[in-house]
Amino acid sequence: MRGLSLHRAGWRRALPPPPPSLCAVRKLHAIDVHHRVKDVDFQAIDQKWQRRWRSPEWRRWQRTDSQQDKPKAYILPMFPYPSGTLHLGHLRVYTISDVLARVKQMQGYSVIHPIGWDAFGLPAENAALERGVHPEKWTLQNIDAMKKQMQAMGGRWDWDREFRTCDPAFYKHTQAIFLSLYERGLAYQAESLVNYDPVDRTVLANEQVDANGCSWRSGARVEKIMLRQWFLKIKEFQKPLLEDLDALAENGNWPERVLAMQRNWLGRSEGTKLWFDVASAGGHSFNPIEVFTTRADTLFGVQYLAVSLKHPIVQDAALRDESLRAFLDRAQHLPPDSKAGYLLRNMTARNPVAGVVEGFEQSIPIYAAPYVLDDYGSGAVMGVPGHDSRDHAFWRANTTDSPIRRVIATQPGETPAPLLPSTESDRPMLETGVVSSNIPDFGGLSSEEAVEHLGERLRAAGKPVETTENWRLRDWLISRQRYWGTPIPIIHCGSCGPVPVPRNKLPVKLPQLLDKYFKGKSGNPLEEHPTWKDVECPQCGSAAQRETDTMDTFMDSSWYFFRFLSPRFDQEAVDARSANTGMPVDVYVGGVEHAILHLLYARFVSKFLASTALWPQGHLSKGEPFKKLITQGMVHGKTYTDPTTGRFLRPEEVDLAKSSAPVIRTTGEAPRVSFEKMSKSKYNGVDPGATIAKYGADVTRTHMLFQAPVSDVLEWDEASITGIQRWFTRILRYCGGVFMPPTVLAKFQPPRDLDMSLSDILTWLVSVKLLKVITINERRPASSFDSEEARFIASLKIEEQLLWSKVQETIARVTQSYASTPPSLNTIVSDLMTLTNTLYETPHTSDTMAVLKYLATCHLLRMMAPMAPAVAEEGWHMLHEVTAIKVKTSPTHPLRGNGGPSIFAFPFPKAEEEVIKKLNPTMTTVLQVNGKKKVEAQIRKPPVGLPVVDLVNWVLGRLAEQEGGKEWLSKESGKLWKVLGSKGVDTQAHLLIPLIPIDCDIKIAKGGRIVNVVSLKKADRKKWESEVAN
Ligand SMILES: [Zn+2]
Repeated sequence: MRGLSLHRAGWRRALPPPPPSLCAVRKLHAIDVHHRVKDVDFQAIDQKWQRRWRSPEWRRWQRTDSQQDKPKAYILPMFPYPSGTLHLGHLRVYTISDVLARVKQMQGYSVIHPIGWDAFGLPAENAALERGVHPEKWTLQNIDAMKKQMQAMGGRWDWDREFRTCDPAFYKHTQAIFLSLYERGLAYQAESLVNYDPVDRTVLANEQVDANGCSWRSGARVEKIMLRQWFLKIKEFQKPLLEDLDALAENGNWPERVLAMQRNWLGRSEGTKLWFDVASAGGHSFNPIEVFTTRADTLFGVQYLAVSLKHPIVQDAALRDESLRAFLDRAQHLPPDSKAGYLLRNMTARNPVAGVVEGFEQSIPIYAAPYVLDDYGSGAVMGVPGHDSRDHAFWRANTTDSPIRRVIATQPGETPAPLLPSTESDRPMLETGVVSSNIPDFGGLSSEEAVEHLGERLRAAGKPVETTENWRLRDWLISRQRYWGTPIPIIHCGSCGPVPVPRNKLPVKLPQLLDKYFKGKSGNPLEEHPTWKDVECPQCGSAAQRETDTMDTFMDSSWYFFRFLSPRFDQEAVDARSANTGMPVDVYVGGVEHAILHLLYARFVSKFLASTALWPQGHLSKGEPFKKLITQGMVHGKTYTDPTTGRFLRPEEVDLAKSSAPVIRTTGEAPRVSFEKMSKSKYNGVDPGATIAKYGADVTRTHMLFQAPVSDVLEWDEASITGIQRWFTRILRYCGGVFMPPTVLAKFQPPRDLDMSLSDILTWLVSVKLLKVITINERRPASSFDSEEARFIASLKIEEQLLWSKVQETIARVTQSYASTPPSLNTIVSDLMTLTNTLYETPHTSDTMAVLKYLATCHLLRMMAPMAPAVAEEGWHMLHEVTAIKVKTSPTHPLRGNGGPSIFAFPFPKAEEEVIKKLNPTMTTVLQVNGKKKVEAQIRKPPVGLPVVDLVNWVLGRLAEQEGGKEWLSKESGKLWKVLGSKGVDTQAHLLIPLIPIDCDIKIAKGGRIVNVVSLKKADRKKWESEVAN
């Protein structure tokens, strides 16, 4: 037994000397650490490979690769609006989709990964108005600039599928889809009170108006005006749009958050339809007012009715009431949450329970109120100020001092007192409960029972009542009074009405206008153009006018993913065969800001197309366009604020010489550092183009993926990007072949199949004399091995077995991380970094090891290739320049010519998971305390050649992972520590062996099979032993 007095040596010298057996590796390590990362020119590597990927040979290879008979994978990032500059949010979404597309390609799929341009829309038109440049010119310039940036980020884009929605060849089909909807009765025109932006001079959708009633774009106060508008009947599809969300929820394919937002937007609620009779003093008779409520149990508390400004009863009354007309005029400019109301004269309503339940005979006032939406229910609501906040606020604003009735109590038998104005308790009760005890026949019933009983009683009395559902969803307003959009293909004829443009006359093109036309213009250029709108009616030939509205750009993006499948197919929006094979999109990647509208419209139009000849097999996926949805988180920028004034600081105001301790230049104070949404006013924006130019695309991409899980907010911090640079530098250095000695290289020829099973690898190595298998003899008969494979594996050294099991574990984990929803890309980076370290740290033990390291490097490079394609290509090339010399000029070897056409010509590695267990050899080890056996356990065999201190730590570490070992070694409760501590002995951790106390020493024997912890306080030893021993 070898004794080592580690105790004394330990606290004088903190680190042990490097063991001789690891010298070679340590040296490499040292070179690496000292070698400055600058020495690898990552931009040059990017450029070299990007050039290669653009070459005709490459494209030819890619085409043959994707045309083989393979399953398809359609990976799609939400296509960009061509603003002209790629921001970090773009870079994030395109990196994620590019990584997924590359993985799928390597896994044997025929991948569609297209990009196009959502090119219509207001910003281009606004730019035109400001600068006097045609929106098309502006858009095309921006597309050009962004395309260069998309190429610079190293994306594998199907450029031959590229299109832009403002191209007549594209919008011809947007128009055709509109006509199909129109022919099906799903597109219609209606007078509607619309949100009008007086600055942009356009109509806005409800969702483009913020909570304060201002335009999302111009910030102007939105006005309400009546306009004839085009709508799509998305409400016809509301049921499947809601129900099919359940299918999307399966396996977490769509994020729960997005599903909830969709459900909420559709807003299905169950309720009751009731009719209130109207009594009029003026001799007019009116139809009963229909009301929808989700709280029919509060009917006894109705104190007024409120009807929308467009309600027939209001329109009728306005004919005779001048001040009502004035109110209606004024109301157009009121915000949607206004509490204004107008009491209709000479008419009252009657509660439906009047005459059915005693005590409800009194008449109820009727108000015209802007807060009642025209299209909610029937444009009328029952006002229950005691049990609804908005009704309460309205009632208090319009009738100052009247008490408010409460009809729902928290407990049976209660009669809640009325609410009095200006008192503490003047608040509505919003929850359900039990009907107040003073209501005849209903008192004491629960809210639910009351609704049911009410239905029965009203029906029995011959009064109308209906249980029904209501939806929050409104039809989709697609009209825009703008130039830069798809013209709506309708011609208005004086005698025929609206007539569709015949399909053979599509596209209806936008008129060509000169740049200067736009400068400072407002309004709709199509309306004002001298000749564009004048045409003949296609039906009767008389003079008619084109529709001058264009479509909302959400219309373009509601079907563009079909177009990518047959982008040059002229007859139809999509070739039905391509739609059948290509749809649905397998993975859709984009920002959560599109969780509601874009996805809802795209689902609607896809469901519609699935009911046409364009997507015959659409029903197989219920017409759902996106199988999986990945919503990436936002990117936040590092923000510096003055701690005293709270002012945002410009980058030049902060001295970043010491990045860990920034200083405000003028004051010398430390700024407050936070991460916030990037914006110009916070000076925290980052230009990805500049980052790519500085660090290279692959470093930038991988850093971005490493910094946060895909769905989380990404706090962009450049300071740590050197971590990725260093990692890539180490990989490339490794690919130089340092692990393969010349003697092995002389015999080595890379295999044709890099993904052989371990058995096949070992058989091959034996055949080329790079491995000697344990021979069977009298001492080791064949029966001592479970199988021939076991004999081969047993011939490997422990380090070889450990390396190979690490490689296989990593492949399994990384494959799983790429496939999960959302993919766990940040953990892939850390797993691959760990594997790189393992490669560096595993000593060279044999010729076999050199070959295993070669294969492990091939696996590592292929696993990282989707994230860092150029670095992986470069590494692959370097590796095979050294290791594939023998096959360099072979006519058929896949690795000929320094590694074949590309790393992407080789499949993604597949884990051989069964072999992992076989590669984990164990040994029995005994833990002694003062020479007495305390624990015996099976632990994994340590790597050979570990220096003694490392070996002790390794063995104790494995022991401490098990229950028996923990009982002794755990710092919190281990007997070794507890007893010593209770004796007043110093229980600091040993400097070299942290699992034992400082006043102990270790004796180790038989390669770690016996470890003896010895107490150094000889005087205490006897006592200690007797206590500790069991
Ligand atoms: Zn006509």
